[in-house]
Amino acid sequence: MLSSCYIHIPFCKNICSYCDFCKLFYNTEYVSSYLEVLKSEIQESYQGEELDTIYIGGGTPSSLSTLELENFFSILSIFKKSSSCEVTIEANFDSITEEKIDLFKKYGVNRISFGIETTHDWILKRMNRTLDLEYVRHIISYCKSVGITNINVDLMYAFPGETLKELEEDIDFILSLDVSHISTYSLILEEHTELFLEKEKSISEDIDAKMYELICSRLSDYTHYEISNFSREGYYSKHNLCYWNNVEYYGFGLGASGYLGDIRYSNTRSITHYLQKMFRYQEEKLSIYDKIEYEVILNLRTKNGISKKTFFNKYSMKLEDCYSYQSLVIDGYLIEDGDCLYIPEKYFYLSNEIMVRLLEECKL
Ligand code: SF4
Repeated sequence: MLSSCYIHIPFCKNICSYCDFCKLFYNTEYVSSYLEVLKSEIQESYQGEELDTIYIGGGTPSSLSTLELENFFSILSIFKKSSSCEVTIEANFDSITEEKIDLFKKYGVNRISFGIETTHDWILKRMNRTLDLEYVRHIISYCKSVGITNINVDLMYAFPGETLKELEEDIDFILSLDVSHISTYSLILEEHTELFLEKEKSISEDIDAKMYELICSRLSDYTHYEISNFSREGYYSKHNLCYWNNVEYYGFGLGASGYLGDIRYSNTRSITHYLQKMFRYQEEKLSIYDKIEYEVILNLRTKNGISKKTFFNKYSMKLEDCYSYQSLVIDGYLIEDGDCLYIPEKYFYLSNEIMVRLLEECKL
């Protein structure tokens, strides 16, 4: 049943040198037209389902002024929310204030995801980002003091030239914040980004692997519940689990993606088209085989992997009739434990290779 929704707010105060997301420089005129059109897009598609997760991502949603945020939250009142609805908003420290956190709280936001990425000045400078560590501490304790205890921070690693020691210092800082969730990202030099155009060289695979290993060992007090995500018990991202469980969700806003019925879609990244209400950029009609492939790839990202029972309930086929996975089990790359088939944590780093091997064993 459809119970999740992603909303994209594309505005940012600064453009980061590695960023490949759909974003625009903050401009107050664009914001008001954008919110108006966003409202129409939601009204056009939303069928009144009760939502269990709403994720407001970007861009930088916190770059909106308090007045614009008030306007945005009034649009959100269109949605019916379940009593346990997880409402997440992304924020950056260059634009978040106590006043905005109060506003989030007032409008039912119960999870905030902050971008920290790194604590090192030279890396921040190369990223075109800023960060005041004292302000970070202050804001995180402010969130907790008003009762928003479900807090994620993003950590980026494998920045060209970054050392293991520098990464360790970032981890120490993040651990000192005592947040409930940490998402990690290995930097990828995407085409068309500033770093790519400046011909920055990626870090070696060997160092990347060591960095991942360091993260896993230093975050061992957290549950490593997905390849790149770590959480305190009970603080898994409900919204992201909906992606990994391959269930349907709405996607609204510039460049947003969604999954409805048999269709996976992405919206236009052109603000001109979006403001003209030409929302969709592309749609992929999924066959049952496509759905099964998504299911397997997405489920295997999590520590619980694939539930054979859920798989059967969704596709009326047994997992073992779709894939010959025994050789991967024998090699130890997959663990079969009762209802679950999963990649053990020690092989998370090789998950892409394991998934490719599994997909090659498809019997359909
Ligand atoms: S703040 Fe986020 S979305 Fe905006 S430019 Fe930086 S990485 Fe991209």
